[in-house]
Amino acid sequence: MAKTGIVKHPIYLEHKTEIFHPESPQRLQSIYSMLETKDFGEKLVEVPPRFATLDELLLVHDAHYVDRVLDTAEKPRVRFDPDTVTSPKTYKAAWMAAGGVMEAIRAVFAGEIRNGFALIRPPGHHALRDRAMGFCIFNNVAIGARYALKAHHLQRVLIVDWDLHHGNGIQSIFYDDPQALYFSIHRHPFYPWTGGMEEVGEGPGRGYTVNVPLEQGCSNSEYGNALRHLLWPIARLYRPELILVAAGFDIHHSDPLRSMNLTEAGFARMTDLLLQMASELCGERLVLALEGGYNSEALCDSVAMVLWELIGQSVINRREMEQVEDAQYGHIAQLIARVKEIQREYWKTL
Ligand SMILES: [Zn+2]
Repeated sequence: MAKTGIVKHPIYLEHKTEIFHPESPQRLQSIYSMLETKDFGEKLVEVPPRFATLDELLLVHDAHYVDRVLDTAEKPRVRFDPDTVTSPKTYKAAWMAAGGVMEAIRAVFAGEIRNGFALIRPPGHHALRDRAMGFCIFNNVAIGARYALKAHHLQRVLIVDWDLHHGNGIQSIFYDDPQALYFSIHRHPFYPWTGGMEEVGEGPGRGYTVNVPLEQGCSNSEYGNALRHLLWPIARLYRPELILVAAGFDIHHSDPLRSMNLTEAGFARMTDLLLQMASELCGERLVLALEGGYNSEALCDSVAMVLWELIGQSVINRREMEQVEDAQYGHIAQLIARVKEIQREYWKTL
């Protein structure tokens, strides 16, 4: 029976931010509690995480920066930037967040699971090669991608980032590298102020960064349509061997950032589309990693909906959602046309 792996571990709760900081242990605690109460059955299995090795971290990060993170060990608090602080055990959580994503990928390639979701923190997509940024310490998804390329001898990894914020860290790490195609759909202009559609990569990486900048207030159908009508045709041309997802839930309508209007079903629908893509293009290999999402209730309800999709027990009405997407295609048609126009220089048949 094809299984879905989840990565969870108490160490991820030991990264303690300051009081009133939105990226709190409570976020993950509520997801872990939800896992106890819902019966996902035997299809959901745990994949135990491990610490990333130093060599693995160095696939993405500078040795000097890794040392700086290690220097925070057992210290009460070190501030990396105005939003990013450590606690005594943050270094361990960060080490194991990166390791958790790698373990989920390893388990997929070993055939132990069909797909997986790393329920980890601290998040990663803003973390740069040489510094922490925006709640992120190590760039978990970028490390996962580099690990997959190296350890599993891949040529092409597709990274889809649906977090509210642009994943500037992932983009910059792979900006000149065609071995990872980074597709980000995000609010723009907005923190971290990168992610314009004209940012397409550089050198041999040109065309391997695809940014879909959205205005505030988008909902399920805009995200569904962007995945169907922009990501999918590009993914077909790219032919990824693995799909990784920087899964942020701060686009939920009741997130305190109040930017987008997705419902729980919207996250399920994006997962449904990515599962279809993974099935068509890369032997179903799909691994998600948790990024943002700051309303604990919305976060765990949405994660639950994603998990129902991943285990193949969808609770959404796909047909109905498709019809709404078709009816509302006009909302995003122009934006998709503009991004395609820019990307056609690299993807001739797009
Ligand atoms: Zn975010």
